[in-house]
Amino acid sequence: MITTKSQREIQLMREAGRIVALAHQTVASMVAPGVTTKQINDAVERVIIENNATPSFKGYGGFPYAVCASVNKTLVHGFPNHKPLVDGDIVSIDIGANYKGYHGDSAWTYPVGEISDEAKKLLEVTKNSLFVGLSKIQPGVHLGDVSYAIGEYVTSFGFSLPIEYSGHGIGSALHEDPSIPNIGTPGTGPLLKVGMTLAIEPMVHVGKPQTITLVDGWTVNTKDGSLSAHFEHTVVVSDNGYEILTTL
Ligand code: MG
Ligand code: MG
Repeated sequence: MITTKSQREIQLMREAGRIVALAHQTVASMVAPGVTTKQINDAVERVIIENNATPSFKGYGGFPYAVCASVNKTLVHGFPNHKPLVDGDIVSIDIGANYKGYHGDSAWTYPVGEISDEAKKLLEVTKNSLFVGLSKIQPGVHLGDVSYAIGEYVTSFGFSLPIEYSGHGIGSALHEDPSIPNIGTPGTGPLLKVGMTLAIEPMVHVGKPQTITLVDGWTVNTKDGSLSAHFEHTVVVSDNGYEILTTL
């Protein structure tokens, strides 16, 4: 069931989203060669707790950390660790915060030092695809139109999207209906309504779309070892479009 949220609920999600954005601001200031993803995880957890929220991911399905930290060929759900980032890496940091029972969820892929032209293009296309998808959001539009816009944009650059990973509704649960694929057919799927809250999150591979999950049960890599990127915002459908909640 897809729910719409009350003004009170949206206000709580705005605060959860603001805290997630604050945490990303901290990440942006830290990412550099020599820094570890565990240091980033710990800094994010501090920001979330200092703002009277809790990390949505810690303990979710048994996930042990506050952030997902996914380097290079890791698409999503990577564990933060003590290995220093090196010049030329790209690192996706996915952050969720629970404020008074409501969640914000946002991922961003950061360049570490000087990155390759291929990596730069991947980051640019994936980030742009998020905003291409968001630009379709307004009441009365089919969700498939959003998915289609993301998929068409990404594949026009020769990149691919793994079909098994999607965006999602969000609210008092981190993952709610509907599932929001990053590939779709126009004019299909549920109709968007004012007050629906959605996490739109294109995940993109330079190479083929297939993925493999490591024996830790979480870390998802591109099967062909190609680079991957992930950009995500939580938004609410508004009278004339959408409002990004995971922003300052
Ligand atoms: Mg996320
Ligand atoms: Mg999400």
